[in-house]
Amino acid sequence: MEAVAATAAPTKARDPRALAGELEAFNSLYRPHLEAVYDFAVRIVGERDLATDMVRQTFGLAWRSFPEQGNDVAGRLFTTARVCTLDSLRYRRDRNGKEREGLHFTRIDGHRVPDAAVFDQSLAELVWDAASALPREAYSLLALHVRHDLSPDAIGLDRATAVRLARTREFFDKDVTIRLLATRARHTCGELDILVARDDEHELAQHIRRCKRCRETASRFVSPAAVLGSLATIAPSRSLARELFNRPRRRGVFGIL
Ligand SMILES: [Zn+2]
Repeated sequence: MEAVAATAAPTKARDPRALAGELEAFNSLYRPHLEAVYDFAVRIVGERDLATDMVRQTFGLAWRSFPEQGNDVAGRLFTTARVCTLDSLRYRRDRNGKEREGLHFTRIDGHRVPDAAVFDQSLAELVWDAASALPREAYSLLALHVRHDLSPDAIGLDRATAVRLARTREFFDKDVTIRLLATRARHTCGELDILVARDDEHELAQHIRRCKRCRETASRFVSPAAVLGSLATIAPSRSLARELFNRPRRRGVFGIL
C-alpha cells in the first residue's frame, strides 16, 4: 500500500469558502477521469460492487491529498486505483465467481477502433478471454498502457516493472495470435492443422515461430492490443458520479473517508 499511503496526506482544516472553490477545482480536474478509472477497476476485479468501492477509495484518497498533489491527475488516479484493486483481490478466493455478472466486457467502441482495422465480435471475445486469463497484476499494467494510453514513465514504473509490462504484452499478443491461427486459419497450413488437432500449445507456438506461411497469415490479423484498446468503456452507475462530484461535501466526508 505504499503508493496509497503516500497520496493520503492528512487533510488540513479548510475554510468553507476555500473549500467550495477547491471542490469546484477538484470536480473539474477529476470528474473527466471517472469513467476510465471505473472501467479500469471493474475489468480488474470483475464485479460492480467491488469496483465501485475501489473507485470510491481512489477518488477519496485523491480528494484528501488535493490540491497538494500536483497536476498529474490521470497518472496518480490510475496508480492509486491499481494499488487499491490489486490489494482488494489479494485475500479474495472467489474473485472469479461473479465474473461477467451483467457486465459487457466485450462491446466494441467504434470510436476507439484504429483506422483501417476491421474485426468482429468473436475476435473481441477471444481477446478479452485472453486478457482476463492473465494474472491481474499483469493485466492491470497492460490495461494502463493499451486501454488508457499511459506510458511506463507516466505511471512511474520502475525498470523491472516496465520490463514485465513489455513481456506481458508480448505474451498476450502471442497467445491471441495462436488462438486466432488455431481457430481461423488452421486449414491454411497442413502442419498447423495437425498440431491444432493434437492440442499441444507448446508445439503450436514452436511451429508458428518457424513457419513462414503461418507468420504471414498472423501478420494480417488485427493487433490484439488494438482490439483490447477498442473495447467499450464500462460505465459506473450514475449514483456513483453524483456521490463523488455533485453532493455538497464537508472536509473528510467522502465515501468511506
Ligand atoms: Zn504453418
